[in-house]
Amino acid sequence: RAARQTGSRRVLFDATLEAEARDRRDLERRLRDAIDAETLHLAFQPVVELESGRVVDAEALARWTPPGGDPIPPNVFIPIAEDTGLILRLGRWVLQAACRHAVTWPDAGGLPIGVSVNVSPMQLQDAGFVDDVRAALGAAGLPASRLRIEVTESILLDDLETAIARLAELRELGVTAMLDDFGTGYSSLSWVQRLPVTSLKVDRSFVAGLADGAVDHAIVTATIGLARALHLGTVAEGVETERQREILRQLGCGRMQGFLIAEPMPGDLFLTWLEGRSRRRSA
Ligand code: C2E
Ligand code: MG
Ligand code: MG
Ligand code: MG
Repeated sequence: RAARQTGSRRVLFDATLEAEARDRRDLERRLRDAIDAETLHLAFQPVVELESGRVVDAEALARWTPPGGDPIPPNVFIPIAEDTGLILRLGRWVLQAACRHAVTWPDAGGLPIGVSVNVSPMQLQDAGFVDDVRAALGAAGLPASRLRIEVTESILLDDLETAIARLAELRELGVTAMLDDFGTGYSSLSWVQRLPVTSLKVDRSFVAGLADGAVDHAIVTATIGLARALHLGTVAEGVETERQREILRQLGCGRMQGFLIAEPMPGDLFLTWLEGRSRRRSA
């Protein structure tokens, strides 16, 4: 009996795995079609200077809503794109679209607003990446100084020398890079100083525990201290409460983004939001 039970559970388990594999292949096919048809879109989330509240940047975040369906979150479709190599085409589209949007943004407090784009390790390893960036900037007419790219510590798992060389090439072009989700990945602290990045983004999981977690508070404090020692900027992500903002201000964090300021918005709403904010601030 026991054997038979185990046997039938095994069959069930196989059937579930098979269904999952089928779903994933189906999702992969639909994602490929969506990239071809350019039916993905971008959402933009403002990044503000902590002291002044001035908008300095917006992060471009990929969005996919299949026709007639619910949105599929990037945490689902980005890993599929990475596993299948589709990320190269998806990433190229994100770069182009982000630059096209950014040229339409008004200055904030007399200074231009930058756009930051998430870049996967495979893109950074791609020999054509720097040319893609140059082409996206050229086609949109966006100055290189207004584009930033966000990479995670997972780039350290690939060919590190290539990653460093690519980031250095980009910087020569005028495009700066930030280390995203800092503290959640694999880097040892000493690697950070070898990477040609200009800021660290404090992961939202640490910001979430900032007010009542002694460990998270210590991690954020240490990250900001490390950044200062290396002459890097800091951006806190996922800021949701005034309390978190106040603590970050006391710790000397430079910039922040999060629902406290605004959720990611489609391009037209982001423009409306910017106009409303500059009206409120000059009133
Ligand atoms: P990320 O780069 O760390 O982006 C920040 C994520 O935090 C976004 O999730 C954003 O919507 C969310 N977020 C921002 N503020 C708050 C807050 O106050 N509270 C909470 N709970 N969440 C907040 P999203 O848009 O779902 O993106 C998830 C991840 O997918 C991104 O994390 C990024 O790693 C990846 N991703 C998104 N777009 C792209 C893309 O175009 N290319 C690549 N390679 N990855 C992308
Ligand atoms: Mg990011
Ligand atoms: Mg992040
Ligand atoms: Mg994150």
